[in-house]
Amino acid sequence: MTNLSNRGRMLKPSVTLELSALARGLQDAGRPVINLTAGEPDFPTPELVVEAAHHALREKKHFWYTPTPGVKPLREKIAQVYAQRLGVPFTFDQTVVTNGAKQALFDALAAVTDPGDRVGILTPYWVTYVEQARILGCEPVEIPCPADGGFRPDLEVLERELGRGLRVLMVNSPCNPTGAAFGRRDWEPILDLVARSQTLILSDEIYEDIVFSDEGHVSPLHVRPELADRTCVVSGLSKAFAMTGWRIGYAMGPADWIRAMSALQGHTTSNINAVTQQAALVALDHRELIGPMVEKFAARRSLVLQRLAQLPMVSAHEPEGTFYIYLDVTKPMQSRGDDTSSLARWLLEEHAVAVIPGVAFGDDTHLRLSFAASEATLNEAWDRLANAFAMAVRPAVG
Ligand code: PMP
Ligand code: GLU
Repeated sequence: MTNLSNRGRMLKPSVTLELSALARGLQDAGRPVINLTAGEPDFPTPELVVEAAHHALREKKHFWYTPTPGVKPLREKIAQVYAQRLGVPFTFDQTVVTNGAKQALFDALAAVTDPGDRVGILTPYWVTYVEQARILGCEPVEIPCPADGGFRPDLEVLERELGRGLRVLMVNSPCNPTGAAFGRRDWEPILDLVARSQTLILSDEIYEDIVFSDEGHVSPLHVRPELADRTCVVSGLSKAFAMTGWRIGYAMGPADWIRAMSALQGHTTSNINAVTQQAALVALDHRELIGPMVEKFAARRSLVLQRLAQLPMVSAHEPEGTFYIYLDVTKPMQSRGDDTSSLARWLLEEHAVAVIPGVAFGDDTHLRLSFAASEATLNEAWDRLANAFAMAVRPAVG
């Protein structure tokens, strides 16, 4: 037995990645499982982007280390695109290209926290935030976002925790898992509280292009650009460009914060894959490729919202963004004596539908279902769910 460190013992695998691998494994073994765990688009990466990678290989742009924070044209492109999108004059030295948004989040946290620091996390949260804070020896501080308030943060708790001192507040709109996307009126009171503190903002905007509300994506920097000197924005191409496997994310922020992230990357993973960087340059020049995919997500969202009515005793907040629907399963859980893990296991084992239990997101009342699947798959999945939940709420006979 290896004598693991305290950190090594504490590390937990990503529940989302584990369950999605389990569902895929069952499918590969011939089980008729429908996998709604996946936090990834079901489309292939657009052909133009794939061709850019082929071109980079043919042009032999693949066999050197690139500069650690990314090749200059890509950093310049990111700075230009996000200066325009966010209305903040980013320059290329305020950007770093990372192995997915996940690494950007970790490096950003590592660059500004010391062990023992308190990190504010809006809850329900994406599973990785809490684990990253813990790996760094920080204390995750949950700020509840109640379902009956549309998953907006409880401002009293936020104010209290800011008063006790938070080194960083992690925010994520559109939100995985809840699908909530904050508008200007949601952000204003949150950012006014933050502005009165010393707290830094780490804004995960990876779902920025998958938004269904009329207001569109609203970043904290749209609302309070004066907070740019203490905000790091993280995004990437994984979701909107269907590029999860390419591992491309990036961050924009104050130059010293970004420099520290780049130094950390230089000692952990070096630069990201050189070919991916060339493909990313082309993707960022062709944002029109996103439109048709987002239209498909919108149609699927309508489909699952229609089908929701057929699930007895189950409700959901209408997702304003992302490709997840977050089902409140409190009543069927009570009727079966389950928690979200056992309910999810029952759905997988007895009804062949794989979903993520809310407990992974710090909330034991909901299940997260992806609608990044074909309409036929979604229809079949929701038939199975309707059947399962009808059984769950039927009174026991005898
Ligand atoms: N943030 C959120 C909220 C996510 O859902 C994901 C998906 N994995 C990531 C960050 C990380 O994205 P990437 O695949 O680019 O690392
Ligand atoms: N973000 C996705 C999800 O929540 C992908 C899995 C992961 O990176 O954890 O399912």
